[in-house]
Amino acid sequence: MHFARFSPVRFAHLPTPFEPLPGLTEHLKRADGGGPALWIKRDDCTGLAGGGNKTRKLEFLLGDALTHDADTLVTQGAVQSNHVRQTAAAAARFGLKCEIILEARTGSNAVDYNRSGNVLLDELLGARIRTVAGGTDMNAQLALVAAEVTASGGRPYIIPGGGSNAVGALGYAECALELVAQANEAGREIDRIVTATGSAGTHAGLVAGLAVMGADIPVLGIGVRAPKEIQEANVFRLAQETAALLGHPERVSRDMVVADCDYVGAGYGLIDAAVIDALKTIARSDAILLDPVYTGKAMKGLIALAKAGAFDGETVVFLHTGGAQGLFGYQSELEGQL
Ligand SMILES: *Cc1c(COP(=O)(O)O)cnc(C)c1O
Repeated sequence: MHFARFSPVRFAHLPTPFEPLPGLTEHLKRADGGGPALWIKRDDCTGLAGGGNKTRKLEFLLGDALTHDADTLVTQGAVQSNHVRQTAAAAARFGLKCEIILEARTGSNAVDYNRSGNVLLDELLGARIRTVAGGTDMNAQLALVAAEVTASGGRPYIIPGGGSNAVGALGYAECALELVAQANEAGREIDRIVTATGSAGTHAGLVAGLAVMGADIPVLGIGVRAPKEIQEANVFRLAQETAALLGHPERVSRDMVVADCDYVGAGYGLIDAAVIDALKTIARSDAILLDPVYTGKAMKGLIALAKAGAFDGETVVFLHTGGAQGLFGYQSELEGQL
């Protein structure tokens, strides 16, 4: 896989650590001895103003933006978007302007949700922010704002929500390669990778990377928004597009794409007791900080599935996709629950 031919710019702190999770492994050991050996891939440590999974995607997207001589990044996300924060950071790092459209997707009026956490950091990083109502056609908004930038003499580069197109997903094909190399070095065979799956680029990039290199490791995506059929279709389409960029679209098959969307709860960005329990469990077992919207929900699923025996005897790698900065946007909801 020749990633250099896509001209990525390099700013992520890589490779991210690949470590055992002794506390959670012990916690999920059942009386009959069953349970998984858990490891974690620390993509919360990618280093770009708090880091997270969008940083790997942005290495390829920024490369493309600079190749196109853009001077303004335009992107969108939910109010507490980690993608938006990392895009604002990448823009600052390369001296570009950044236009952000935030969708009031969760309907929250809480001051912390709307002003703290990632929003505070977006402002600190110098992005220009506008907010639109939940349910707005965000792709149309991106086009509108890009047209405004052009009209005022700028050169916009649109980054889709979550950085999830095939160019961005290359970052996770590359992560798959990095992870397999680390497992080999550690003398560990990985039986399964578990990750949160949202705008699909992370999940799709992993599937594409593993398929193209011929590594037979199943990836389980835990959904945070869409129902299973829609999520799997989105991931499959994007995995094929990503593998096509890498020259081997035929190596991705439909059965490689598995999403479990039973842990979404009331909806995107809405937390429940099991999410809070997951946040607390791994914070106290291994001092790992998860986020309320993505990794907390994925961990809610991982814990429930492990308790039901789904991973017995397996070495399972949890991909930590970042987002702990978003915790501060949920302070009022977490207060009294910890
Ligand atoms: C965006 C995000 C995800 C989901 O990744 P996608 O590529 O959008 O599916 C998972 N975790 C965190 C913390 C994120 O910010």
